[in-house]
Amino acid sequence: MRGRPVRAEPYLDSLDSITGEVIGRFEVTTPAEVSRVVEHARGAQREWAPVRMSVRAKLLDRLAEVFKARRDEIAEVVTRENGKPLAEALFSEVLVSLDSIRWHASRAEQMLRPKRVGHHNPIFMGKRGRLEYEPWGVVAVISPWNYPIAIPVTSIVAAVMAGNAVVVKPSELVPWCGALLGELFDQAGFPVDLVQVIQGGGELGQALIEASPDKVIFTGSVATGRAVAEACARRLIPSVLELGGKDVMIVLSDADIETASSAAVWGSFTNCGQACLSVERIYVEPGVVDRFTELCFEKTKKLRMGSGLNPEIDVGPMIRSQQVERVERQLKDAVSHGARILTGGKRRPDLGACFFEPTVVTGVDSSMLLMQEETFGPVLAIQGVADAEEAVECANDSAFGLGASVWTRDSARGEAIARRLRSGAVMVNDVISCYGITEAPHGGRGASGWGRTHSRLGLLEMVQVKYVDRDVFPRGAKPWWFPYNRGLIEMAEGVFGTLFGAKAMDRGRAMVTAWKGYRKRRQ
Ligand code: NAD
Repeated sequence: MRGRPVRAEPYLDSLDSITGEVIGRFEVTTPAEVSRVVEHARGAQREWAPVRMSVRAKLLDRLAEVFKARRDEIAEVVTRENGKPLAEALFSEVLVSLDSIRWHASRAEQMLRPKRVGHHNPIFMGKRGRLEYEPWGVVAVISPWNYPIAIPVTSIVAAVMAGNAVVVKPSELVPWCGALLGELFDQAGFPVDLVQVIQGGGELGQALIEASPDKVIFTGSVATGRAVAEACARRLIPSVLELGGKDVMIVLSDADIETASSAAVWGSFTNCGQACLSVERIYVEPGVVDRFTELCFEKTKKLRMGSGLNPEIDVGPMIRSQQVERVERQLKDAVSHGARILTGGKRRPDLGACFFEPTVVTGVDSSMLLMQEETFGPVLAIQGVADAEEAVECANDSAFGLGASVWTRDSARGEAIARRLRSGAVMVNDVISCYGITEAPHGGRGASGWGRTHSRLGLLEMVQVKYVDRDVFPRGAKPWWFPYNRGLIEMAEGVFGTLFGAKAMDRGRAMVTAWKGYRKRRQ
């Protein structure tokens, strides 16, 4: 299986995640071409906006069929280019996408139906209000390499169901996945230019924002997110920013340690630790910390590294050597400040240039880069804490606030701690899977970004809310219009008393005052 080669230059190379060999070449869009792409998207959107929701849903159903039929091929492309094991590509890319497509197809219409707005204030009794949801127009989706299918697809389908056209800029590190995305939407029969994939690097992402789409959905690093936010602010383009994380796991002394340690190992090493929701800091209460560490050590030692195309492999390579260097730098800093590597901590050049062993570290603290910066690599870091209070304090002492988990047999205690964590999502007794729950909003606080994808809230990011109001008494001037006079002042006095009077009798008297003022006003 090879990516489709192109003769045109410039192009992006798709690299095999294991060998680094070029497995495909893909044509890039030059920044100069982007305004034309956005213009075409505008044209397609004008024709798409009036299309009935049931018709939009049918198109998504067809897309779901294409995903289902080509699931093995999609998974294989992801594994070859991104490196994650096939099982992960099937579950976290194809299944998450497919579920999101089906969910939007069956639920979006109901979620975007106009909603009646009731009025509590009797002054506005004669009005009938409602909320209507209108598409933004052209939505730009700029996505990273770590979940190259699921991340863009979940936003694209929400945008399209809401009546937008989409221009997608996948990461330059996964151009084959990017090209495949375009192909899947084409095969499903999406109208020309409704979903366009443009390929290129950061400068193309920048050019896309400069072409003034109506909304930007960005997923990526904090540094790029800041540049995107600035570029959007200059043009007053609203944005959703899904940025980095430093997710916490709090293990309480009553937790099921066997399960918690398996979760820690999976949560730290799935996608070789390159998930925004990866478990990156583990705080453990006394009493269980030794056993928990021992189990994490034993389970990590058993992980099998290699090519994700082999179904018996647990952990693949990292995406590029710069990523590996970041992990090495953080580990070096941690060790120089007293941390201890129990297992791993080394590259595996015998397997390929970007393999780094799953690593378990203890003796860490918040002064270390490893516990401050996003690691985005295969490191499981355990810090013993005095109690749950200290765990919560440590957890919240971070610029990031994306995901967290609490491990305990006492669900009330787990939920009480969940409420105190500064985090976009908290799971009690599970990790990461909230990303696959289509109804669960995904997004963070602080350096982890703003806005939400997935769920009803993610769908609402794809629309502008319009309040429409109809007056059931269309004839006659409103009492608060010009000209003003003393009667209106008296009426105001009466209205204040009627609405906010402390006792029923006061409110009754005020109503009379309001009525008298109204009469005077009309004389
Ligand atoms: P990145 O920031 O390097 O790139 C992300 C995308 O932005 C790419 O398509 C890139 O080409 C583009 N880009 C680069 N410069 C740009 C600019 N100036 N203007 C517009 N676009 C530009 O991120 P990455 O390395 O691809 O992804 C890893 C990061 O993404 C990690 O920090 C990870 O935590 C984060 N991430 C977050 C989530 C989430 O949902 N919160 C999900 C996945 C990944």
